Order: sequence, then structure tokens, then C-alpha cells
Amino acid sequence: MKQVISLRDLEEMLRNGKDVRSLPAEALLTPSARDFLRELETPGNQRARPGESARSSNPATPPTSRSSKADIEAFFNSPPTHELKLQICDIGRRLWQRAYVDGNGGNIAIRVGEGIVLCTPTLISKGFMKPEDLCLVDLEGNQLVGTKKRTSEILMHLQIMKRQPRAVASVHCHPPYSTAFAVAGVEPPTCMIPEFEVFASVAIAPYRTPGTPEMGQLVADLVDKHNTILMANHGVVTWSHNGVEDAYFKMEILEAYCRTVLVASQLGKPVQTMTPAQLQDLLKIKQNLGIPDPRFGLKECELCDNAEWRPGVTCAVPDNSAGNGSAAAAPDPEAEALVKAITDQIISGGR
Ligand SMILES: [Zn+2]
Repeated sequence: MKQVISLRDLEEMLRNGKDVRSLPAEALLTPSARDFLRELETPGNQRARPGESARSSNPATPPTSRSSKADIEAFFNSPPTHELKLQICDIGRRLWQRAYVDGNGGNIAIRVGEGIVLCTPTLISKGFMKPEDLCLVDLEGNQLVGTKKRTSEILMHLQIMKRQPRAVASVHCHPPYSTAFAVAGVEPPTCMIPEFEVFASVAIAPYRTPGTPEMGQLVADLVDKHNTILMANHGVVTWSHNGVEDAYFKMEILEAYCRTVLVASQLGKPVQTMTPAQLQDLLKIKQNLGIPDPRFGLKECELCDNAEWRPGVTCAVPDNSAGNGSAAAAPDPEAEALVKAITDQIISGGR
């Protein structure tokens, strides 16, 4: 008897990483299965090629959070999902090697289908994860598959994904220089390095206990116009519309920037900034890349405002140019008079 292949059979084969074009020649195809195969033959359609990059080789119909347990499990154990798991392990290793995570800190999430997210487990160093450690959850944080328990901070990633439909992946960690800004409650100043202006849009979310829905809510409130959120007294979370590596890149860019700004502010010279017109050019590039930024549409005179930025203590570089060394140190008579007036007032007030 000839084998009858339905659309469901083809989808099952794809989920298990099999090549649907290696069907027995005598197999009978149902009409919907025939249409499906024809669609796969369309140039540019990557869906049926196992082993190719993870996003493009996802099964034709990834399960949703409402799919059967068997379908969700098959998807979780399929070769395309395995590729994504390897990618998460790789990003985890890079976070650890760069000292962006400590202890069991940090977490990574990828949206893999409608209402389902692949994420890192709790209580594990992100530098040493194996694909079998990862978890699949729905958007409410209920664990669908995985032997290890999902991270408690997943709620924040899920809130981001619910509020920002373009977010396909998110990364959270504690990089020291960026976290220092988050601890001080200072937004990194702007108009200093092009890479930072183009790829990151930073805001600060107030502190709440990590892993609580309230924390997630405060972060989610900012993801409409920002892709990089400093979490006060905690760390950083980034999201990307391109993929998990892109979300990780934002972390590298932010951390390198915060480090550079801190070093520059200790050199004893005022830091130099680009002009608002120069920033405007970068913002055009950013807009074309589809990256959000609250400054789009602002007038040039409103850009490069670093009023909040207070560089730390700096040691003045001695002015050795001939003639004006002592003049620079000479007291300003006007300032002297002002100090005297204030002092007199304090003394008389104290009697
Ligand atoms: Zn954390």
C-alpha cells in the first residue's frame, strides 16, 4: 500500500530536522501537503533546509503556547531549537568571559514562537551552560519544557516582549562600568562616541527587587523608545529586533562606552563632544536601522544636552605656558567680595 503524506506529516518531519524532499517517490501527497511542498520550492524560501541558521530554519509552523504538549516538546527537542540553545550557551560564555556576569547572575531569552520563549535556567553560571539546561516558557512565565527551573528574572524579559512586539531576544547582566552608572543613577552622557549613539538608546528604571513583576513593569514602561535599560542598583537589560547576538552587542557597546567615558573624565581635560549636527547625522543612520530613540524629531539645539552629567573629581593639568601661570592662580576680586559678603551674612545670622 502506498504511503499517504499529509501536511501534518511534513510539519512533523521539519520539526525533527528531516529533509521533506527526500520522500519516497511512490508516496501520495494530500492537496495541502502538495501546496506546502510547492511553496518550499519557491526561491528564497528557507524553511525546509535543516541545519541552516536557526531563525530561518524554524519549522514552518512553530507551536504556540496553546499547542499540544507533544508538539511543544518535539519543537523543544528539534535541531533548529538545538541551534538556538547553542547560541544562548555561546552568548552566556561571552558574558562570563567579559566579566559581565557574576555567580549565577544574568539571563538570556529568545522569542521562538507565538507566546513561547526559550530562556536560561536559574542557579547556573552563564559561562558553563549546556543546551540541555535551557527552558521553554510561555509569556506568563509558566515553564512548558526543560528539566531545570527557568530563571526568576524571566518575568522582566517577558514583560519586555509583551510590551515591545519587535523584541525577539533580550539579555540581562551586571557589567561593572554600566552598573556603576546604574548605581549612581546617572544616565551616560551623550555625543561622545558614534557607535553608542547609533546602536544604544539608554534609560534608567528605578530599583525594585529583582524578579518581581513590579521590576519587569518598570523596565517594560521604557522599551517603546529605548533598547538598553539601566536597572538602578542592579544591572542592565537590552533587547533586539534582530536576534540574541545583537542584544548582546548592545551590552558590549554600552559597557565599552561607560568605561571610556569614566577614563576620559579622569584625564584632567574637559571631554570633547560632537556637535548636535553631527549627532543628527548619526540619528538618521539609527532610524534607518530601525533602532528606536526618543531623540528622533528633536531640533538640533535640543540634542547633546549633558546637563545631568557631572564628571568625577579631576586633577587639573598644570598650565605651564609662559607668563600666565601666576595670573591663572590670582584671586578673582569679584569672587572674593562675594565670599566675604556671604561669610558676613552667616556670621551675623548666627548671633
Ligand atoms: Zn540581575
